[in-house]
Amino acid sequence: MNDINQLFTQHFGTSSNGDSSAFTVRAPGRVNLIGEHVDYNDGFVLPMALPLETRFRIRPRQDRTVDLYSTNFKERRQFSLDHIEKQETWIDYVQGVARELAGGSVALHGFEGVITSDVPVASGLSSSAAIEVASALAFTHLEKQPMSPVDVALLCQKAENTFVGVNSGIMDQMAVAACHANHALLIDCRSLELEQVPFQLTNHAIVVTDSGAPRELAASAYNERRAQCEEGLALLQKHLPQVASLRDVTLIDLARYGDSLPPLVLNRVKHVVEEIARTLRAVENLKQGNLTVFGQCMNESHESLAKLYEVTSPELDWLASWASKQPGVLGSRMTGAGFGGCTVTLIEKQHVEDFTQRLPQEYHTAMNRTARCWVTEPTEGAQVLD
Ligand code: ADP
Ligand code: MG
Repeated sequence: MNDINQLFTQHFGTSSNGDSSAFTVRAPGRVNLIGEHVDYNDGFVLPMALPLETRFRIRPRQDRTVDLYSTNFKERRQFSLDHIEKQETWIDYVQGVARELAGGSVALHGFEGVITSDVPVASGLSSSAAIEVASALAFTHLEKQPMSPVDVALLCQKAENTFVGVNSGIMDQMAVAACHANHALLIDCRSLELEQVPFQLTNHAIVVTDSGAPRELAASAYNERRAQCEEGLALLQKHLPQVASLRDVTLIDLARYGDSLPPLVLNRVKHVVEEIARTLRAVENLKQGNLTVFGQCMNESHESLAKLYEVTSPELDWLASWASKQPGVLGSRMTGAGFGGCTVTLIEKQHVEDFTQRLPQEYHTAMNRTARCWVTEPTEGAQVLD
């Protein structure tokens, strides 16, 4: 990545170095370790922030214009804080955040600057939440009105839902805003209670692998799965009126009343109920330092997403299955909404090099696609740097 100060000078004429009003914000991508397709069922998810990040190098302006150059899109875009209208392009993520902040009585000022990012765009590692949270930090730092990570996350989720128009849960923004280095973040998606779970990877690493497969099916399948969960809930509520979401359903309930659901809906509900329990079991084992069981939970999660929830793909199945047979691997699973996107693998450090060297070639031979691997560890959430 080019030095962000140099890029700033290149695109905005003068240097930001030595300009005390200029500053940098960083917001990482994230990967979910376990707890998939349960956020919209009030469940638990366990993401960690990645050492891949989006940076803004910016300088305040006297007027109400926001003027940004994205190195990933090789494009400069502007908008006025007085006329926030959709442009149907990446700047909408920044505009959406500005609109939410303005609606919430934070006075806003314009700024200009450069965005760089090594979070792959649209691979399921949350480059969208990274640009949103970085935007929120940029605006609020300029106004000297810092917000809590939880408030930043809620605001950014609202911006993505209502302005950009993507119906995402709270996990992405919360992970980007609130994760800590050497910790995974347990999010209770019902109460939004957060727990920092120590995850110091002394002898292990997390390898994230991008399958390079298209995610075209993901959006429609996501909506379909949500609808199936709602259908299952409504049918179960006839027997269990006290149940407010699938979070409240137990395996005993399913054994008793599962027959009243269509088989496909029962499979979806079963995944959700078991995945929520599995996530809590994984966290308990993580706290006890039992990475072996944690890895087994990851494998079981993939199996359930493949067989019961049916959101994997031949590529994701190949990657998870190949990984689980490699030396030093404790667990591997698809992560994110599914179909395309990434897998996440827990592996002993001494085997990482061999793993990342052999994977791309063997994957290409088997699936005729190009994979990318990142060796990662849990990283700090979004920050203003200077
Ligand atoms: P993901 O969050 O999985 O990476 P999304 O489809 O949710 O994928 O978000 C990707 C979109 O976010 C991009 O198409 C772009 O509009 C915006 N975006 C992400 N990173 C950047 C960036 N560095 N510069 C400009 N826009 C970005
Ligand atoms: Mg996204």
